[in-house]
Amino acid sequence: MPGVILVTNDDGIHAAGLRALAAALEDLGEVYVVAPDREQSAVGHALTLHRPLRVDQLGERRFAVNGTPSDCVNLGILGLLPETPVLVASGINHGANLGDDVTYSGTVSAAMEGTLLGVASMAVSQVDPAGEGFAGAAAVARAVAARLLVEGLPAQTLLNVNVPPGPPAGVRMTRLGHRVYSAKAVQEMDPRGRPYYWIGAGSPTWEKEEGSDIAAVHSGWASVTPLHLDLTHHGALRGLSGWEGGLNAVLKQRAP
Ligand code: MN
Repeated sequence: MPGVILVTNDDGIHAAGLRALAAALEDLGEVYVVAPDREQSAVGHALTLHRPLRVDQLGERRFAVNGTPSDCVNLGILGLLPETPVLVASGINHGANLGDDVTYSGTVSAAMEGTLLGVASMAVSQVDPAGEGFAGAAAVARAVAARLLVEGLPAQTLLNVNVPPGPPAGVRMTRLGHRVYSAKAVQEMDPRGRPYYWIGAGSPTWEKEEGSDIAAVHSGWASVTPLHLDLTHHGALRGLSGWEGGLNAVLKQRAP
């Protein structure tokens, strides 16, 4: 018997990419859509803890939540779904989630939430959907999901999938690329003479690294990057253990 699949996104319950992903996964399991009631892009891994969440059932196995993508996954797994899902799929995001940008992404964070709750999870993003639509990303998402359901994933690991515009040349397994942060924050004056700022202005530039998700997508390939939720840098931890003695000596001197 096929399991339950939780589909969510950060562009909101009415987004075309969400419909495309739900349709692509339909024959792999019983798809439940639990998604934010409005756009929640770039909210990262935020959870709503200081107000109640409300759920609107819009159809059979289709729910809108007045919260973040991570709220939707948490509430879906721990509350709304009839059983623990075999897969959390987030997307298809309208636009790329590549390299360092994954730390801001509501789409990727929803998959992180699924991973934290012990469910195999993937995030899917379509670069420039305005031109070609979601057909390319839907096909890649279905293929990756089918494989993932058979093979599983290592502990604390999720997949981040990005698909270029147009039919992809194929799939490349990649690592995260890195942004070049060069653009300054834009400062302007408001009509009352007080400064205001825009961050994230201008188009991003990226380090050109062979094997990165950026490089794959820029050359027309779909990229699949395994992400690990253990953010500890174990090498640095060994190197920094020498700090303990000095820090403890300083704290001891200051003790009353
Ligand atoms: Mn989005």
